[in-house]
Amino acid sequence: MTQIPRKSKKNKPQSGIVSLFTLLILITVTGCNQTQTTSSINTEQSPQLQEAASTPIQKSGKIKVVATFLPMYWFTKAVAGDTADVTILVPPGTEVHEYQATPENVRAIATANVLVKNGLGLEKFLEPTVKNAQNPKLTQIDTSKSIQPIEKISPVVEAGNQEEHDHEHTGGNPHIWLDPVLAKQQIINIRDGLIAADTANKNIYETNAAAYIKQLDYLNNQYQQTLQKNPNCTFVTFHDAYPYLAKRYNLKQVAVVEIPEDQLTPTDVQKAVNAVKKYKVKALFGEPGIDNKLLTSLSKDLNLTLRELDSLETGSTEPQHYFQAMQNNLQTLATACK
Ligand SMILES: [Zn+2]
Repeated sequence: MTQIPRKSKKNKPQSGIVSLFTLLILITVTGCNQTQTTSSINTEQSPQLQEAASTPIQKSGKIKVVATFLPMYWFTKAVAGDTADVTILVPPGTEVHEYQATPENVRAIATANVLVKNGLGLEKFLEPTVKNAQNPKLTQIDTSKSIQPIEKISPVVEAGNQEEHDHEHTGGNPHIWLDPVLAKQQIINIRDGLIAADTANKNIYETNAAAYIKQLDYLNNQYQQTLQKNPNCTFVTFHDAYPYLAKRYNLKQVAVVEIPEDQLTPTDVQKAVNAVKKYKVKALFGEPGIDNKLLTSLSKDLNLTLRELDSLETGSTEPQHYFQAMQNNLQTLATACK
């Protein structure tokens, strides 16, 4: 997934107000015509308020957990199994970085016991959405707790006008799930949060978390063993998603951000070319689902193979998909770094 970094800072509060306003309108509209039938919301005023008041006693007796986006859903589902009722806010395949909340999201949070987020400023949509949901009983799990964020471990070459460039993550780069060791901490945070919210099922959460952590340990070993053969392998990405992974396994990410989203000028292309030359780059990585002719022609010009590295922001909702996608990334890195 790609970031859309050129929104000016000045517009941010404004667009926040607009989207909140839009959200309110949407809630009203949906409440009136009942076209959304996914949940049994009654048609009286402020359904989300009513449900919040009578909060979360599920008929099944299960606690209701909402996870923000795909990796948080995998991790939560892995720890919860079928013991909790886990749903996802950002549909897989939808951009998380610039996601706009829907009325369904507000309703989901209004009736949930627990909300699981990545944190580190990734889920920009969340704060106003949680506010709208007015659920005083909501427990929030920030999976980035106890993780030391990094800003830019590797050089970031910014295409385009630097003054316009406004892509920064408040609190550090958020892509911690792409480092299996940090993913372990995320699992631990989810486990502890679920136990706090649902102590009766402590043993189940502990057992499930331990099993997933074991797999993460195995994955980490595989990464270490495979990538230690090519230390300092330098690669270019067009999404600043791999600084944690690069740091963990002694690789170097040169993130040339902005390319897939924005129209490139010849100057931008030249900057990317210069970066590739400057850093003795071995690999050029696009992302699954992004068909970009410019990247293809750039890779031809530079005589580098264009490969796909997956930031795991889209894909199957099955928790084991994390390991498949990470294995694919490892093979891609190993091949590219040879
Ligand atoms: Zn990302």
